[in-house]
Amino acid sequence: MKIIFLGNGEAFDERYPNHSHLVISDKAVLMLDCGDSAVRQLWKYTKDYSLIDALYITHRHSDHLFGVPALLGRMLEEERKKELTIICSAQLKTDIERLTEHAYFGINSYGFEIKFVVVDDKQQVDFNGLKLSFAKTGHTAYNLAIRIDDGKNIVCYSGDGPFDDETEKIYKDADILMHECYMFEKRLPGHVAAVDVFEMAKRQNVKCLALGHFKRAFNDETRQRVAEAIPATGLKIIFSQPLEEYEV
Ligand SMILES: [Zn+2]
Repeated sequence: MKIIFLGNGEAFDERYPNHSHLVISDKAVLMLDCGDSAVRQLWKYTKDYSLIDALYITHRHSDHLFGVPALLGRMLEEERKKELTIICSAQLKTDIERLTEHAYFGINSYGFEIKFVVVDDKQQVDFNGLKLSFAKTGHTAYNLAIRIDDGKNIVCYSGDGPFDDETEKIYKDADILMHECYMFEKRLPGHVAAVDVFEMAKRQNVKCLALGHFKRAFNDETRQRVAEAIPATGLKIIFSQPLEEYEV
């Protein structure tokens, strides 16, 4: 599988696009989360409007969700015909239906089928031969982290929020885990400190940890402290630079 890190920023950071990634496998292509600036990143990466088979949304915060109307609108204008699957919680399905109705009032059809796959905590689904597993994190909104297993490699993404024992299970033996990280050691409500992600990644044998979503006022400082801490962790840790590729 190949990862394209579309964005690595938090909600309001003008310097870094919203946290979002493309997962490209020979079975399917998934976009993980869809904030407004993530959509612009996607179209910088590709002009193939049928590239994505499925969009997965972790939770109902705007920096992960509000790009959906722009994504669908652009696909409509560029005449995509291929069905698009949206994988999300039941609440998010309602949110997306309401959001798209509001965003471009008068557009009732995109010219391609949109199919929802509703998922929940501890659920597993098969999508085009990819085994997808979901587990809740402790974010302020209901957030489901995802594990993508193509039979050869494992790619995981946290969305937002601290992990618990159940969340950790889906990160086990990940070839890459894209994890949010708000501060270096300070634990702010609904988010994770880098020092805690390091320990969890060691426990779960994570082979590469890609960190993003740093709180903007501390972005430079947190990056520096993470970089300095890497040798002592014994982990492979990277910053998910926008539009960089990573092969697993
Ligand atoms: Zn959030």
